[in-house]
Amino acid sequence: MKKLSLTLKEVVPAIIIVALALTGYGFYKYSTLKDENATLQARVVKLEDMLGITEKDLARTAGEKEGLSQELTAEKERVGSLVEEVQDIAGTVGVLDKLSKTDKELLQKYSKVYFLNEHYVPPRLTAIPLTHLYNEGAPLQIHSNVWPYLEDLITDAADDDVTLWINSAYRSFGTQASLKAGYTIVYGTGANAFSADQGYSEHQLGTTVDFTTRGIGGGFDGFSSTPAYEWLLQNAHKHGFVLSYPKGNAYYVFEPWHWRFVGKKLATYLYDNEQNFYDADQRKINEYLVNIFD
Ligand SMILES: [Zn+2]
Repeated sequence: MKKLSLTLKEVVPAIIIVALALTGYGFYKYSTLKDENATLQARVVKLEDMLGITEKDLARTAGEKEGLSQELTAEKERVGSLVEEVQDIAGTVGVLDKLSKTDKELLQKYSKVYFLNEHYVPPRLTAIPLTHLYNEGAPLQIHSNVWPYLEDLITDAADDDVTLWINSAYRSFGTQASLKAGYTIVYGTGANAFSADQGYSEHQLGTTVDFTTRGIGGGFDGFSSTPAYEWLLQNAHKHGFVLSYPKGNAYYVFEPWHWRFVGKKLATYLYDNEQNFYDADQRKINEYLVNIFD
């Protein structure tokens, strides 16, 4: 059996060869890794750049989106307010149109300083059916828009067993002038107490009536103590009528028979607030003009 033994001479070169080989491999491996690492690093940098660009893009896109959304909101608000404005204008135009067609005189106060023009004549007059007249021989007329309300009032009263007769309605300036002249001849200057100028103005409007009831001789005295007067006090406002000159008013003598149409809304407002038409503020009254025939 051959003894396994190696001499130093044999071993050392082998070791050197192996070491060189290993070193060579190491260098090779090292340089390869180094190259790979550099490549990787370059890719990382490139990716990082790309990422940076993408982030910027995203930020810009987000900014743009935010801006667009704000613009959209602003636009929506603008359109919304425009629509509202258009609706407001349409509504205002409607109200103004209605108001322009409504006779301003219908809710004016007639006093010692404010008279209805002597040439004023209601646009349309309706003959009151004779059955409602106290004196069937003297036909009476009323403002055509007021007649339906007056008719309802008379019917409503009849349902409560109150019969109302009409003693006076539309009176022209001329009629009134001769009427007053007649009173003046009989009563002298005292005629002003019950036939003063503001009284005829309301009759000249065509919206005012004098009621009476059977049993008091058609005269005016005593009307205030009739059930008809009581009924009117409680119900006339539902049909748009008010008592122009109540007891104790500062404008005229007490006229329990004299009722003026001012529209259901204003009449109800005055009734609810226990206010006399002549005591109410004219600006407040004017707010009801557009709805006078509603
Ligand atoms: Zn009267």
